Amino acid sequence: MTSLRLGVLKGDGIGPEIVPAAIAVAEAALRKASTSVEWVPLPVGLAAIRDHGSALPPATVSALEGLDGWVMGPHDSAAYPAEHRAVLNPSGFLRKHFDLYANIRPARTFRNVPARVTHADLVIVRENTEGFYADRNTFEGTGEFMPTADVAITMGVFSRPRIERIAREAFTLARTRRRHVTIVHKANVLRATAFFRDICREVAAGIPDVTVDDAHVDAMAAHLVRRPGDFDVIVTENMFGDILSDLAGELTGSLGLAASINASNRVAMAQAAHGSAPDIAGRGIANPSAMMLSVAWLLDWAAERHGDARLRDAGARMAMAVERTLGLEIFTADLGGHVTTAAFTRAVIAQIFPE
Ligand code: ATP
Repeated sequence: MTSLRLGVLKGDGIGPEIVPAAIAVAEAALRKASTSVEWVPLPVGLAAIRDHGSALPPATVSALEGLDGWVMGPHDSAAYPAEHRAVLNPSGFLRKHFDLYANIRPARTFRNVPARVTHADLVIVRENTEGFYADRNTFEGTGEFMPTADVAITMGVFSRPRIERIAREAFTLARTRRRHVTIVHKANVLRATAFFRDICREVAAGIPDVTVDDAHVDAMAAHLVRRPGDFDVIVTENMFGDILSDLAGELTGSLGLAASINASNRVAMAQAAHGSAPDIAGRGIANPSAMMLSVAWLLDWAAERHGDARLRDAGARMAMAVERTLGLEIFTADLGGHVTTAAFTRAVIAQIFPE
C-alpha cells in the first residue's frame, strides 16, 4: 500500500465542482488498482479569505510542506478584496515557495471530440521559475520597472542549473513516451535563448536514446498549427511555454480538457490549465476533464517518483476512463453536449467500474 498523502484545495469559481469530481474518479481508479491515497482538505481562495483572513493561510502552506503533492482548484484572484489582490496569488506563491520549476502541460486530441487538428499527442515542458517572466526572476521586487512615465523595462533571466533541470525533466519524460524532444528558442535574436538551447543540447548528449531537434518559437507556432502530430515533448522557457501551451490546448480541443501539473523534485501540484470560469460557476455544468486528467498525471508523476506500479495503474485507469467517456460523446456544454458535471463524473466512474 502506498502512503501517499495529497492535499485537496478546491479553489474558487468552478473549483468546488470540478475538484471533488476529480477526486471521486481518482478514488475509484485507486480502488480498482488496489491502492489508496490519503486526501487532506485545505482551505484556499475566497473561502479561506472568509474563514481565515487570507487566500492562502499560513496553516495551508505549512500543511502542504508535509505532503507529497496536492490538487489545486482554479482561483479567481480578480474577485479578491483589494488587499488580497496586492499579494502574489495562491498558485503563484506556491510555485515560488515550493520551487515548482516544471510546468508540464499535455495537449492531445481525443477520439470523437471536435478539435481544430486531426491528431496530436504532445507535452509541453515549460520552465516555470525564470525566463521572460519578470515577476518571478528576482530575489526581491520584480524584474520590471518604469524609469519614466513613458518607458517600461523588463528583464529575462536564464541560469544554467535551472535550464539543466528542466531539460532533464523533459528528457526523462520523453523516455516514457515516443522518445523525442524539441527545444524551442529564438536563438537568432535572443542570445539568452541560444544559451537555453545549447544547455538543453548538452543534457541531450547524455541521453542518447532520446532524439532531439530544435525550433525557433515563431516557426514552432506555425508547426503546431500545421503538423502537431509530429511532436512528442517540447521543452522551452517560461513565456514561450505559456503561449505555446495555450495554442496547443486550443488546437486540440476545449479549455476544459487542458491538464497540467507543476512539479519540483519533491512535490507536484495538479492544476487544470483553465481558470475559475466564474461565468458558469455554481451551475453544475463545468467540464471536469482537465482536472481529472491533471490528477491522473499527478498520480503518474508520484508513481514514477516512488516506483509504485499500483499508483501508475491508477493514473492510467483514470486517464483511460476520461478518454473512453469522451469517446462515447458524453459531453458537457463546452463541448456542445448537455451532460452535467455530476453525470459526466458518474460516466467516467462507470468506465472504471462497469455495471
Ligand atoms: P483566468 O484569468 O483565471 O484564466 P479567464 O476568465 O481568462 O480566467 P477561464 O476561467 O479559463 O479564463 O474561462 C474562459 C472561458 O472558458 C469561460 O467562458 C469559461 O466558462 C470557459 N471554461 C473554462 N474552464 C472550463 C471548464 N472546465 N468547463 C467549461 N467551461 C470552461
